[in-house]
Amino acid sequence: MDKELLAMLVCPLCKGKLKYDRKAQELLCHYDGLAYPVRDGIPVMLPEEARRMEVDEKLPASPGRTGEA
Ligand SMILES: [Zn+2]
Repeated sequence: MDKELLAMLVCPLCKGKLKYDRKAQELLCHYDGLAYPVRDGIPVMLPEEARRMEVDEKLPASPGRTGEA
């Protein structure tokens, strides 16, 4: 997806910046816990189309947490 386009995009709910997940083809709003789909390179910025993130996904990835109990 276009970097300039991505820079322009904000979450329609909180107007916050989105993080682009290239692998999943999703735009993530960690504030709302929503993942907006990118279809054929077109971001779908509709809350009703967005996927609810799992609690795990909402946590910021930290290098110290490798799942060791
Ligand atoms: Zn948001």
